[in-house]
Amino acid sequence: MLHETVVGRVQLVGAGPGAADLLTLRALRAIEGAEALLYDALVSEEILALAPAHCLKIQTGKRAGRTSMKQETINRLMLRIARRGLRVVRLKGGDPSVFGRVGEEAAFLNAHGIETEVVPGVTAACAAAAQFNFPLTHRKQARRVVFTTARIEAGALQADWSAAADPETTLAIYMGGGAAEELSRRLIEAGRSASTPAVAVESAGTPAARLRRGVVGDLARLVADGEGGPVLLVIGDVAALAHTGEVLDEVEELRSAGGRP
Ligand code: SAH
Repeated sequence: MLHETVVGRVQLVGAGPGAADLLTLRALRAIEGAEALLYDALVSEEILALAPAHCLKIQTGKRAGRTSMKQETINRLMLRIARRGLRVVRLKGGDPSVFGRVGEEAAFLNAHGIETEVVPGVTAACAAAAQFNFPLTHRKQARRVVFTTARIEAGALQADWSAAADPETTLAIYMGGGAAEELSRRLIEAGRSASTPAVAVESAGTPAARLRRGVVGDLARLVADGEGGPVLLVIGDVAALAHTGEVLDEVEELRSAGGRP
């Protein structure tokens, strides 16, 4: 393909799950140096506040069914701003390369002569595992982890769940909250046992995070009383290890009160 001469640069940056101290230093430097910031709905206020006061801030995504900017509009906007010579940061929740459309955006910009750099971030699955004390892989129990999504295009449920049948595979399911009941059915049909441990983690990596524990057979119950934050489903034996740490907190309290745990 014939490329135009390079004029301008865009950094495609992972903002991680929300807490500012889970940003990489490289991401922090990019945000602090931004002259224009185009950010998705999942990017937290705490992180947006790190951008310079004079930085142009444009929200490109909205949650809870409200209309977001079309991908084509976002692409054109990034291109126009970058061509004016501003330092553009495209900020995305989690890691830009995990359901973050980074491939599409980079390809568009590169084809129009704009250089891109991807700065990784902590993806929701890693944030959830760290916060609720379970591993994504585990020796002899979980040899694989699959980052997948319930949805391929708006409304359509992914059809092929064959990778889900393997009992040693941990599934981290993004954008699965709204399709939980259907997901239970598909996973069981694909051969995963209905009693496989499962968790729903809402707003992982933030102080508002919530953990719901259950099994593959009752995913709908796990997501039923959410508070509107993003929800990740994790399925596999490792999910049985998930806990909030509260039991350990009680032990600590007993210790400090002079009692015996
Ligand atoms: N690039 C992001 C994922 C974007 S897709 C990442 O790497 O994390 C959006 C989906 O990601 C949400 O529907 C939800 O399933 C999941 N997600 C993103 N942030 C989350 C968080 N803080 N807690 C739980 N799930 C989250």
